[in-house]
Amino acid sequence: MSRFPGVDYLEFDSLLSEDERLVRDTVREFVDEMVKPIIEECHRDARTPLELVPKMAELDLFGATIDEYGLPGLGSVAYGLIMQELERGDSGLRSFVSVQSALVMYPIYTFGSQPQRDRWIPALAAGEAIGCFGLTEPDFGSNPGGMRTTARRDGGEWVLNGAKQWITNGTLADVAVVWAKTPDGVRGFLVEKGTPGFTSSDQHGKFSLRASTTSELGFVNCRIPADAMLPGTVGLKNALMCLNQARYGIAWGGLGAAMECYYTALEYAKTRIQFSGQPIASHQLVQDKLVWMISEITKGQLLALQLARLKDAGKVKHYHISMGKRNNVWVARECAKLAREILGANGIVDDYPVIRHMLNIESVYTYEGTHDIHALVIGERVTGIAAFNAPERPGKVAQTVGA
Ligand SMILES: Cc1cc2nc3c(=O)[nH]c(=O)nc-3n(C[C@H](O)[C@H](O)[C@H](O)COP(=O)(O)OP(=O)(O)OC[C@H]3O[C@@H](n4cnc5c(N)ncnc54)[C@H](O)[C@@H]3O)c2cc1C
Repeated sequence: MSRFPGVDYLEFDSLLSEDERLVRDTVREFVDEMVKPIIEECHRDARTPLELVPKMAELDLFGATIDEYGLPGLGSVAYGLIMQELERGDSGLRSFVSVQSALVMYPIYTFGSQPQRDRWIPALAAGEAIGCFGLTEPDFGSNPGGMRTTARRDGGEWVLNGAKQWITNGTLADVAVVWAKTPDGVRGFLVEKGTPGFTSSDQHGKFSLRASTTSELGFVNCRIPADAMLPGTVGLKNALMCLNQARYGIAWGGLGAAMECYYTALEYAKTRIQFSGQPIASHQLVQDKLVWMISEITKGQLLALQLARLKDAGKVKHYHISMGKRNNVWVARECAKLAREILGANGIVDDYPVIRHMLNIESVYTYEGTHDIHALVIGERVTGIAAFNAPERPGKVAQTVGA
């Protein structure tokens, strides 16, 4: 049994089915028994805990919403709760599962040919193959439409040229889902490890998501077979559909990081004694921080649940998901900061999970659409005016200050 009691102020559990609670509790136990004992060491050593992959596969955590190939076909709430519990363990671990499920299995299953599905879905589900998703480039992050990576047809092959950056699992991956411009628009391609002209290397010096591998991918006249294109892809919108799946999971994942920080701070505050023998939890200023955390987590839970209901009803829109990702990751970021304050000096050491979550959440705040880009998505929805491009300023060019 997990020692973590959950964070449930408003009888949130009563809104879940028995099966959903069972899925959550199973992953909760896995995180407490297998993730927490090793995760600080992985973070220190900047190591992806690949030894957890077989167990995660056994628990059907890869591609859990797919209902073919022996996968469980879970609903959106259960899937979200998996993301929540994994991210309570570590955002890097949740990223691993998000990429494998939402950014690799989802596009292969949704846009792939039958042979592509048959080849990759069972292997990815079993954790026998690892995937990555290459959209971001050195010069194009928030605006992937500007991508420079190209794919051109040459007889029976595609020839890829370009570079991708900040790619989770890039050097670990057996298959990369790569987005490239063709004369007919953006398409998705499956590029296998070891293909001549395809290189990958790890990015070092990260202070965030250290238990996750982040890589650069390079393509120099990289030739892949004609049938390596995902035939159902017709434009950039297909890449954005994948991101929607992943962002939905992050809306739940953020809650997991927030819950871990809240719970750690609460337990600490109840036992840490300062001034006249009283625990610091007895001070109003400390209580105010805990109250802020549990209030925002509770609101975030309800937001995530409504997203799930809309998703299962086929009604969720990308601007709904933007609100969930933006709000709940921001809540996690604020909870990590407040928890760190409550822990005092202990808040900066990895004897406690708080500083690791605080560092991790900076990546989560930035990837899958930054906090501000999601504000623009929501802003466009409510005003009808897209504010992504700065207004024209005739005669003005960006100035470099200094020499
Ligand atoms: C650890 C990690 C893992 C990642 N994994 C993957 C992966 O697996 N696959 C993948 O494809 N990508 C991945 N990414 C990349 C991630 O999606 C990008 O970093 C993200 O989209 C932001 O792009 P950028 O870093 O280039 O920032 P920029 O786009 O350069 O943005 C910099 C700043 O400018 C702001 N900004 C940009 N445009 C506007 C605007 N119009 N209005 C207002 N503000 C604006 C942004 O909000 C941000 O604050 C990962 C990133 C990290 C950190």
